[in-house]
Amino acid sequence: MLDNIIEIHGKKVVLLEHAITNNLLPDPSLADVWVINHNDPKLVKRFLYKIIRSEDIRINLKPIFLQKELKKVYSLSSDLLKSLSDGYIKWLNFIDKIPYIETINNFIEKNQYKYDDFDKTSDEFYTFKILNYYYTRKKNIVPNINRKSLTGYSYTRIEAFFENKNDAYTKSRMLLREAFLGGSLARNYVDTSHLCKNCHSGFLNFREVCPKCTNHNLKVRNLIHHFRCAYVGIDKDFVLKDKLACPKCSSELKNLGVDYDKPGKIFLCKNKKCNHEFQDAPVGVHCVDCKTEQSPDELIVKKIYAYELTNLGYQQVIEQ
Ligand SMILES: [Zn+2]
Ligand SMILES: [Zn+2]
Ligand SMILES: [Zn+2]
Repeated sequence: MLDNIIEIHGKKVVLLEHAITNNLLPDPSLADVWVINHNDPKLVKRFLYKIIRSEDIRINLKPIFLQKELKKVYSLSSDLLKSLSDGYIKWLNFIDKIPYIETINNFIEKNQYKYDDFDKTSDEFYTFKILNYYYTRKKNIVPNINRKSLTGYSYTRIEAFFENKNDAYTKSRMLLREAFLGGSLARNYVDTSHLCKNCHSGFLNFREVCPKCTNHNLKVRNLIHHFRCAYVGIDKDFVLKDKLACPKCSSELKNLGVDYDKPGKIFLCKNKKCNHEFQDAPVGVHCVDCKTEQSPDELIVKKIYAYELTNLGYQQVIEQ
């Protein structure tokens, strides 16, 4: 027996260190609660993904806790690991979680054979996994801000079903949208995001480009307008030692707004074959992930929602 089984608060608890090192799921019937006591966040994440992807309801719904003592060791991964599990407990004390654990385990016991009829690769199966999980956890499906995800937002525990990053993005959104359209989930607006037209990435670099040659290495100059002689030129040409003087009529410029103003900027293209000067610079968008160049109006605009089970959703879980 590799796994360390102990009894706490009258519940059987598996300490998962060996299971995580070996990436092997323990027999789910041996304990009521699983506790992660491994200090490598990468291996913990791999193991939690394995649990979430499991087709066995006794595994993918198993109450599983992290130890608060290891939160510092997990560092930047600590929130991600929390969103993939039932959260942190301190010193193996989960006495206040006992009703939570019992509700989940009663649900598992009642429903453990109901998965048998499903095609395990169908969207319907994924949807039931989602509804069952959020039903037993009494939690809403909230997008996490996550700079490692494709778009900057992720439904971490749902995306974890899929190995491929693009599948994780498209399929998780599709499943949530279908469940919303089917009435099992209600949704609330969270944010709007702009994504690459080619790969849906949210990592985009916006910058002014030359309208003639699309080069983005531009020099920006402020314009100065001398009221008395109506001359307009770039600020550099007005500098005379520590003063400003008009290059056309040679008068000194003293007060901004009184004898001169700054009507705007001018861009100079630094492409030597182009040297174009222009005032209105269009913005170009460069996708950091797939390198596609596009204009802002080509970007895909997507709304981000949080979801919660509706009464119909609850009914479907109970009657499934
Ligand atoms: Zn140019
Ligand atoms: Zn002048
Ligand atoms: Zn892209």
